[in-house]
Order: sequence, then C-alpha cells, then structure tokens
Amino acid sequence: MRVRPKKSFGQHFLKSGKVVRAIIEAAEIVQGETVVEVGPGTGVLTRALVETGARVIAIEADRDLIPSLEADFGDTIKLVCADALHFDYSLLPTAYSLTSNLPYNVGTEILKRFLTAKHPPSRCVVMVQKEVGERMLAAPGKMSLLSVAVQLYTDPKRVTNVSSGSFSPPPKVESAVVRLDWNPKTQYPEAVIALAKTGFRARRKQLHRNLADAGVKTSEETKAWLLSRGLPETARAQELSLKDWIDLCYNTSGYGRISPPDV
Ligand code: SAH
Repeated sequence: MRVRPKKSFGQHFLKSGKVVRAIIEAAEIVQGETVVEVGPGTGVLTRALVETGARVIAIEADRDLIPSLEADFGDTIKLVCADALHFDYSLLPTAYSLTSNLPYNVGTEILKRFLTAKHPPSRCVVMVQKEVGERMLAAPGKMSLLSVAVQLYTDPKRVTNVSSGSFSPPPKVESAVVRLDWNPKTQYPEAVIALAKTGFRARRKQLHRNLADAGVKTSEETKAWLLSRGLPETARAQELSLKDWIDLCYNTSGYGRISPPDV
C-alpha cells in the first residue's frame, strides 16, 4: 500500500521487521487477550499483533488510512477511527494491554490518558522518543514530573533503543521501546502528582522555595523533612525519589489546596 506520510499526524512508519519482533516479544501477549494499538498507520505492527492471536483494537486518527486498513484486516481487528486524545476511554474493556508505536508529538499525552483511565492497561509496550523514554526511567538526580507520574503508576523498563533508520520517513530523533507494567505505588496518585507538579514548578529553584511559594509548606518544614530523608536542605525537585514524593505528600497537611494534576 502506498501512503504519503503526514507530518501533522506524526507519521513515521516502522520498516524494520527486527524492531517489530522486539516489540512483540516484549509485549508477551497471551492468545485471546485484548491488545489496544494507537496509530496502526499502514498496519505493520497490527499484522504482527493479529498473528499472536490477540483481539486487536486499533485506534487511528487519520481517516485517509482507514480504507486500506479495512481492506487489509477486515473484521480480524476492531478498527476505530478516532483521535486518542479525545477518545472515550470508558469504552475500552476492563482488561487489556497497550502495544503501540505512538505518534511522538502527542505520545506522553496519550499515555497519560491510558494511565489515568478507569480501566488502565495491565502493561504498555510503547515506542517513544528516546529522550522521553529516558525521562520515564530516570533515577533521583534526573527526575521530572513525567518520571514521577510513570513510576507512580507503573514499573518502567527499557526494551531497546531504535535508530531513526528503522522508520520511513526517518524521524529527526532517536527512539526507544519501553515496557510499563501497571503497579500503582499509592492509592491516591493524583495527590502525589499534584504535589510534584508544585515542586517542579520552577526547576532552577530549590524545592523548599517552590513549596513555600505555592503555600503548601513553609521553607522550615520542607528543610526539616529533607534532612529527615537524608537529603540536603538545598535539594531541587529532581533529586527526590518516588518514595520521597509519596512520603512528602502524606506529610503535607496542605496538599488539598494545590491545583489538580496535569502531567
Ligand atoms: N504503528 C505504525 C504507525 C506509527 S506512526 C507503524 O509502526 O508503522 C503514528 C500513527 O499514529 C500514525 O498512523 C498516525 O496517523 C497515528 N496518530 C497520530 N495522532 C493520533 C491520535 N491523536 N490518535 C490516534 N492515532 C494517531
């Protein structure tokens, strides 16, 4: 099938069979399970998913791709023409996994929708921009709001790095496949994310300053807490571990006042 890739939809079609196999292997799909794919594109990954015996739900935003996907897959997949950013996630089944080569420009936004859905995927194997994958996996010292959010909901692992030559057309950035296994670390992730959002508000500023500016904790309270965690009083948000954020959140009397989560 010949299609002209559209920049607006972030279309970079996989052409490496080796990468498709690495994704499928990492996804550990069990025959009969439901797998959601966002952005089937020309169907390279979709074909491999169908071959595992999965029930595939493919969500594609570009209408122009739908006729050929319909012709190629017929009713072997459930094809939905929708924008994953405006999709009604309550329509998804209660149990499923996500396997996708995500459109990079909106990849983290789409993941956020899945992770905060009523029924989140049990695991995700997704291709993202390499730098985004690194942020998901980051350790204290390099943490960001994305690291906190992803690690709060899941256990992330790198599957493989993917060079731009594996796509047609090649993207300007390198890519990585990551696997995220659903494993929420707290019952109220929204509160922790809202707090981290406040802590990361001005990255150059020390944590106590950001929290004091938002009226969440006084500088003295934050400094005392930092010392109790073995961190310097001058620590910035990126130095905190996920456990630190959870601890700080439940020690914070005023977290109910901070703005709703927006990862
Ligand atoms: N999975 C294919 C294509 C990946 S490119 C492959 O690996 O070859 C990204 C795909 O996501 C494209 O098909 C693009 O049209 C689609 N897409 C982009 N934005 C989308 C959105 N908001 N919702 C659903 N699909 C989207």
